[in-house]
Amino acid sequence: MAQRGGEGDGPGHFGATAKVGWVPDERLCLLSVHAHPDDESSKGASTVARYHAQGVRTVLVCCTGGEEGDILNPAMDTPEVRADIGRVRMAELKAATDIIGYDETVMLGYRDSGMPGSEANARPDSFAQAPLDEAVGRLVAVIRRERPQVMVTYPDEQTEYPHPDHLRVHEISLVAFDAAGDPARYPDAGAPFAPLKLYYSVWPAERFRQIHAKFLELGLESPFDEKRLARLTRNDPFTTTIDVLGFQSVRGEALKAHATQVDPKSPFWFGLPPEVLEDIHPVEQFRLAQSRIGAVDVTEDDLFAGVRDATISPPGPENLGGLHPHSAPAPAPPH
Ligand SMILES: [Zn+2]
Repeated sequence: MAQRGGEGDGPGHFGATAKVGWVPDERLCLLSVHAHPDDESSKGASTVARYHAQGVRTVLVCCTGGEEGDILNPAMDTPEVRADIGRVRMAELKAATDIIGYDETVMLGYRDSGMPGSEANARPDSFAQAPLDEAVGRLVAVIRRERPQVMVTYPDEQTEYPHPDHLRVHEISLVAFDAAGDPARYPDAGAPFAPLKLYYSVWPAERFRQIHAKFLELGLESPFDEKRLARLTRNDPFTTTIDVLGFQSVRGEALKAHATQVDPKSPFWFGLPPEVLEDIHPVEQFRLAQSRIGAVDVTEDDLFAGVRDATISPPGPENLGGLHPHSAPAPAPPH
């Protein structure tokens, strides 16, 4: 895959349908950073779908092509698919992001790092081996071009799935959140723009315990074995609860679009009927990690809480980050 540093167009972009409008929602932009194709479907997909439906511009940064992903769906495990896995996964990503409602997908241009100790992990084109500065620079270029008020990334605590690419996503997001608004950093990566809020996707253990209990209640075999359940003792603090009622099925549909990665017969993903899942947990949760418009120990039901007001008021002397250009209706971004 061609590496790109956040250039404006090219094969890394899936024909964007930028929205232009006069209502505040359409001046908002939500940028999610993920490691591999399919992560955008398993994490926060329903939330993105909800904001997209409201007119918020939604942008996905996918850091790697997922070249090291195992084929987990027996029906897709053929020599043809194996020989062309990179292209197959890009097509799956396109289908999934269409289902979710991402307006734009930007590939950061790195190769899947595989697990530590693997051959892939040592490759110089892997995300894990890339110089931190370079990877941050690519993300900064995307932030400055897309100008998202809100960014979503992975939490600092990832001991349950310490994939090197997932750890890296966290790392570069944090640095880029700071660097994007600093004119002294990456001067060639576009005009400085400071996003206002940075969130972590979290999955409170309570959610999995409820799902496990529902399997038992319905007399179904739970895909949560003792080992998995034992790990579900962690406490994932969250600040923000997004109502995704009506958008929950998006997650399952988008996951199924990743046909090589997700077995449609998987009891873990699809063991409970969608309406039952929706009933158990019609929300997705996030933790506000950094905010330029207030405290982070909040309780809120909107990733753009505080941002909508900030966006429509004229910029004050402190000129909050890149708010100014959004105080007037902007022309369609050049994609
Ligand atoms: Zn992943």
